Amino acid sequence: MENIVILGGGIAGTTAAEELRKKNADVAITILEQEHHPLYSRVLLPHYVKGKIPREKVFLKSWEWYSSNRIELMVGVRAEGIDILNRFVKTSEGRELPFDVLILAGGGELNVIGGEPRGVSYLRGIDDADELASLLKETLMRPQDERRGVVYGSGFIALEYINIFKHFGISCDVVMRGSGFWSSTLSAHSQEVLAKKAIDGGVLLHINETEPTILGEREVTGVRLSSGAEIPCSMMGVGIGMHPDQSYYRDCGIEIDRGIVVNEYLETSHASVYAIGDAAQFFDGNVGRKVVYGNWMNAQSQGRAVAKTIFGERAPFNLVSSYATHLFDMHIVFIGDVDRKAVDEVRQVAATESASVEEFYRGGKIVGAVLIGDISSRATITARIAGRE
Ligand SMILES: Cc1cc2nc3c(=O)[nH]c(=O)nc-3n(C[C@H](O)[C@H](O)[C@H](O)COP(=O)(O)OP(=O)(O)OC[C@H]3O[C@@H](n4cnc5c(N)ncnc54)[C@H](O)[C@@H]3O)c2cc1C
Repeated sequence: MENIVILGGGIAGTTAAEELRKKNADVAITILEQEHHPLYSRVLLPHYVKGKIPREKVFLKSWEWYSSNRIELMVGVRAEGIDILNRFVKTSEGRELPFDVLILAGGGELNVIGGEPRGVSYLRGIDDADELASLLKETLMRPQDERRGVVYGSGFIALEYINIFKHFGISCDVVMRGSGFWSSTLSAHSQEVLAKKAIDGGVLLHINETEPTILGEREVTGVRLSSGAEIPCSMMGVGIGMHPDQSYYRDCGIEIDRGIVVNEYLETSHASVYAIGDAAQFFDGNVGRKVVYGNWMNAQSQGRAVAKTIFGERAPFNLVSSYATHLFDMHIVFIGDVDRKAVDEVRQVAATESASVEEFYRGGKIVGAVLIGDISSRATITARIAGRE
């Protein structure tokens, strides 16, 4: 093996490169990354936007780190196709990059509305965070009663926007497609606890709004709801989920479903081609089915695991991963597999005015949980999902 090519320089791809280099000093390692930055933490972006940490603290690797580890980082270069038979990647520069081993670590792609006026933002990468920081600066120069933000969405990124608007004292209306936060995942009680927290914090919720109309030609001026009511705003944050970007691997012959399908060793249907992180739909032995997770812990751990598999330390990937977030000071943790449609039973094991704990079961075994307002059982539930208790 001479050449390892990694598509995607996020936490999964970069961790894989780092671990591969630790295991082998000679193999050539190349990372293709369509953005223009060394590795940074997406998790820290909201903290940077709020001014809690300086921009440079978001970066996890320096340019020098790549050169001193002899990892070639090709930034601003997109993989446009993969020829598995002849073993090369077609790049946006028109090159054919040969590989012996290929690791697909391209993450997911944002769902967008499209054609939005200025003031409408997304929060995926550091370029988005820079733009959001400058939009916030402009909004904060307006008189207090004109500092108005709208959030479109009801999941993790929507929550980040609500927290950001609250942090800056910007009034906040949330427009949701479903009946509440994570409406296809959570029980009515969990949604109520979150809605109450948001409303008590001064947020206005507009539920079951499938297609809000964005007002304003060059700059956003408001949002029109299905009732015809208009909410004026100068900023709108959109967080309506992700989807896999299959454009560059769809035709190369590897098995794809809700992600790139891999087994418990992170191997695709083709020899020496692997997929990790948010891009991978892998067999999770702890929950007994193929899942796609979108969390940092999973992506980083799979980066480490794939390096082991490639160098012969073959062991099934084994981690119960979780995503921890918050709504103001209320802690929220999603653990394991919480796909309501894919379980037999959901048990509401705690339900108070300010807390909700739900456990997800398949075949009598716990496979996931959502903890809101009371996360004290996080470690024990994680151990139960792993079968250690
Ligand atoms: C604002 C924000 C906050 C978050 N907060 C949390 C949190 O608190 N906790 C948590 O667990 N998770 C959080 N997440 C999710 C977490 O960041 C992701 O699960 C994690 O980054 C996934 O890592 P990855 O390496 O698989 O994918 P990514 O980080 O998406 O990296 C993939 C990289 O591949 C590149 N790429 C894609 N296609 C191509 C191509 N064709 N050619 C070249 N390059 C390509 C992309 O530009 C990208 O840089 C957050 C995400 C965001 C956006």
